[in-house]
Amino acid sequence: MLDLSNVNQIQYLIILCFSFLIFVFTISFHKGNHLTGLLGTLFFIPLYFCIASNALLKAMNMEVMLILTEVSLMVFIFLSLILRLNRKKVVILRLVALIFPIGLSILLFWLEVEGYLLYTIGTPLVGVLAFLNGILSYKKQRDRLLFRGFVALMIGAFFSMWSEVRIFTILVLMLRFFAYLSFYMYFYRKAHQRWIAHVKKAEGYKAELEAAFHEQVEKQLFMMQLSNEKLLNASKEDGLTKAYNKAAILEILEHMVAKKQEPFTILMFDIDHFKKINDTYGHVVGDQCIKALAQSAKEHLRKVDYLGRYGGDEFIIILPGISVEGAKVVAERLRQQVSTACEPKITVSIGIAVYDKDGTTVTELISKADQGLYRSKRRGRNAVSHGEI
Ligand code: GH3
Ligand code: MG
Repeated sequence: MLDLSNVNQIQYLIILCFSFLIFVFTISFHKGNHLTGLLGTLFFIPLYFCIASNALLKAMNMEVMLILTEVSLMVFIFLSLILRLNRKKVVILRLVALIFPIGLSILLFWLEVEGYLLYTIGTPLVGVLAFLNGILSYKKQRDRLLFRGFVALMIGAFFSMWSEVRIFTILVLMLRFFAYLSFYMYFYRKAHQRWIAHVKKAEGYKAELEAAFHEQVEKQLFMMQLSNEKLLNASKEDGLTKAYNKAAILEILEHMVAKKQEPFTILMFDIDHFKKINDTYGHVVGDQCIKALAQSAKEHLRKVDYLGRYGGDEFIIILPGISVEGAKVVAERLRQQVSTACEPKITVSIGIAVYDKDGTTVTELISKADQGLYRSKRRGRNAVSHGEI
């Protein structure tokens, strides 16, 4: 059979354990000056009374100690819930909650307390305050766990008025256990929610950092690609005309031959009597003529066509997808437009070679176009030719 003193000892253990856990959760996770933190700090009162009762309150009946604990706890919780608290008041109330039980225990050590009186007044007071706290906490925190805990304490206080009936004593014990378990779960859940919020915040920061990092990397990569492209283009470009240089135009030609996909045509052209222009007007004017000729040719080409400076006053144009007839039209147009490209007036001689009719390698095609060009020169210059001399 359970006797009364054993039941009190179990209650003592229940209050000690749960108050300890709640207090630890509070100082670990509810440091801010908010209501949950304040309520958690208040559980220092039962924790302290449980520890101190063994040392300072030895003379005191354990039952009296329990009722003293609960009255103090309920009063402080009631004050916390009923008062309009700002940050300052929360700090003060937290401090008072920590000092109060220590002061009271020292006071009780000197004073003779009438246990019976405390018990008869304290028990209904706990019941009423637990009821009020239940309603207030639900209103403020919208949490059923706190509400359930207070209701269990209230019912416990009611039944403990008949403490001589043993079944009621056990019922009170179970209700107290349920109440403190509910309080503990409330603080645990709040701590868990805070923890999850912290984790989510940290994940948010991490994602932001990663995004910023990726953006930076992509930016750097883009800049590198850009400068690489610039370098590459510069290495393929002819300085004077900005057309492809000889190596680049031959590489393009090589690539097109290797593809073996569609027919294409090349035009090879050379300024007529350019030496004379140089001799008469000087090399600076000669340069301007070469530049103007390239510019004029570029303007009349499609985006898919390529213009390259083969050397000196000699150029090559690659016309993808163009047959010999089409190439003749383009060459004729080029020959005519060149006459107005610069001052002094110049003319060009043009040779045509068609892939794959005139050749299947770069050398064969260049040689065929060169032959056409030479034929144009032989025909008196300022002409377009296709085929051998
Ligand atoms: P042809 O009608 O037979 O082509 O006669 P040409 O006088 O044009 O003879 P050719 O094409 O063989 O000579 C080209 C000249 O172009 C030789 C060279 O002095 C000149 N030349 C080559 N490169 C440059 C250059 O970059 N600038 C200038 N101003 N002249 C150049
Ligand atoms: Mg020439």
